[in-house]
Amino acid sequence: MVAKGEDKILEELVSIVGKENATAAKHIRYAYSYDLSFVKPKLPDYVVMATTVEQIQGIMKFANREKIPVVPYTAGTNIGGLCIPERGGILLDLKRMNKIIRIDDESHYAVIEPGVSHAQLATELYKYNLRWSWPVGPPSASSSSCAISHGIGGLSGRYGLNSEEITSMEVVLPTGELVRVGSCAIQEDSWHSVLPLPQLDGLFKGWLGSSGVVTKIGLRVHPIPPVLKVFTVSTKDIEDMVSYMRNLGNYEICDDLTAVSWWLAQVPIPSPYIPKPDGAPEWFCFGTTFSWTEKEKEAREEIWQMALGEEQKKGTSIKYAEYPEEALKARTQLPSQIVGSTKNYTKMAGGGISWPGTFTPVNKWAPVYNEWKKILVDHNLSPSVRVTNYRGVHYGMLRAMIPFNKKSPEATENARQAIVECLKVDLDAGGIPYKPPVDFAAEINKRAHPGYLSLLRQVKKLLDPNDIMNSGKLGI
Ligand SMILES: Cc1cc2nc3c(=O)[nH]c(=O)nc-3n(C[C@H](O)[C@H](O)[C@H](O)COP(=O)(O)OP(=O)(O)OC[C@H]3O[C@@H](n4cnc5c(N)ncnc54)[C@H](O)[C@@H]3O)c2cc1C
Repeated sequence: MVAKGEDKILEELVSIVGKENATAAKHIRYAYSYDLSFVKPKLPDYVVMATTVEQIQGIMKFANREKIPVVPYTAGTNIGGLCIPERGGILLDLKRMNKIIRIDDESHYAVIEPGVSHAQLATELYKYNLRWSWPVGPPSASSSSCAISHGIGGLSGRYGLNSEEITSMEVVLPTGELVRVGSCAIQEDSWHSVLPLPQLDGLFKGWLGSSGVVTKIGLRVHPIPPVLKVFTVSTKDIEDMVSYMRNLGNYEICDDLTAVSWWLAQVPIPSPYIPKPDGAPEWFCFGTTFSWTEKEKEAREEIWQMALGEEQKKGTSIKYAEYPEEALKARTQLPSQIVGSTKNYTKMAGGGISWPGTFTPVNKWAPVYNEWKKILVDHNLSPSVRVTNYRGVHYGMLRAMIPFNKKSPEATENARQAIVECLKVDLDAGGIPYKPPVDFAAEINKRAHPGYLSLLRQVKKLLDPNDIMNSGKLGI
């Protein structure tokens, strides 16, 4: 065992990545000890910036031998404390591995390294009139991390989650072994699909960096039709909005079908809670459509008018509405420089933001939102909630973005309590949180089938026998 006091660990890390790329300096470790969320900061013992696959293999072999925890990190914008080192160890920053290896504009996929940001990939893809499902999040975040973490973006209504867009992966296991899943596993240069092989990519998606280090990833990309049309409506309550979204969702004409509460339609989100002005609608919806021709756009418009008419006949409060201009740009011009700039979300608060982010059946959106609103308002927090259909209507995303004053321990704890309370309500309604902080993992596992937990433990042990990879994050 290497003695830590002598800094033999640092010496070994320096021998793998060079002295410019490994440090135990406190001021650098400090920068990696916290994120925007309510999760308590913890210092890593070392920060390492790897630039090659071989270096990552060297780090993992060493860490596995010495049983040193390793946390993979790209931009740390996950807002769930997922890169906070529960047990110290090595913070493995991958942002310098930022090569776009290939854009295949015929087969429509891109192969990238983990440090490639949304902004970088978007800039390159636009040259080929191609796009990915950009999230309404910081453009500096990693596209690879978004995909492996079941992220969502502006095309999720049409194509589903970003994790469903993965075509192949190269991964360094916690033991240092290099593996591949998808077509690139069979032919080195072939990155087009994870099917029809057994879907081993599942071993590295949704694991919160606890099963291996992704070193290359293939992502499906899509052509950009030139004609954008956004259908915007408002309702006075969530029930009427859900009715409209289920109905319009059935016609499958939108790339993104999202509704936001009045509080989330504001830029920035009000903090602390303020009541919405009398008479203002409580919900706004934007259905984003892209068409190849004006005629196609008109056909989509006709379908939208039909769905709107059907809702009006039901006697709901649905109305055509102007969506606030700044907020609309932020949600359709992606990657977003407006909502994606975190300060616009948090600037009325004080640097903190967290969420209960869930996948929830559409028929539970209204009851869960109404409970969340009570909980959040009781905690003096805005019920800034978003719902989004994923490819079809049977389930979708229900999440709240909660800014809070991170400088105040009381305000941070208040936000944490409110968010965990919201989460429990959603779990009890059949929802599942995504990118869950450790506090959520405990609640998930409490409700989990014992066979699921047993399988999870067995697979984790197989991949990571010494439990060194982002350990503690799965709550098992
Ligand atoms: C204001 C705001 C809005 C947001 N909106 C959205 C949104 O609309 N949709 C959305 O999906 N997300 C959203 N996010 C969350 C976040 O920006 C995305 O999930 C982002 O893509 C994560 O990238 P990152 O580089 O910050 O990942 P990180 O936070 O660095 O890492 C995320 C997780 O992946 C693991 N990880 C990182 N790299 C690797 C690797 N190479 N191999 C294995 N594991 C790894 C980490 O250990 C961690 O568990 C939002 C965030 C903010 C602050």
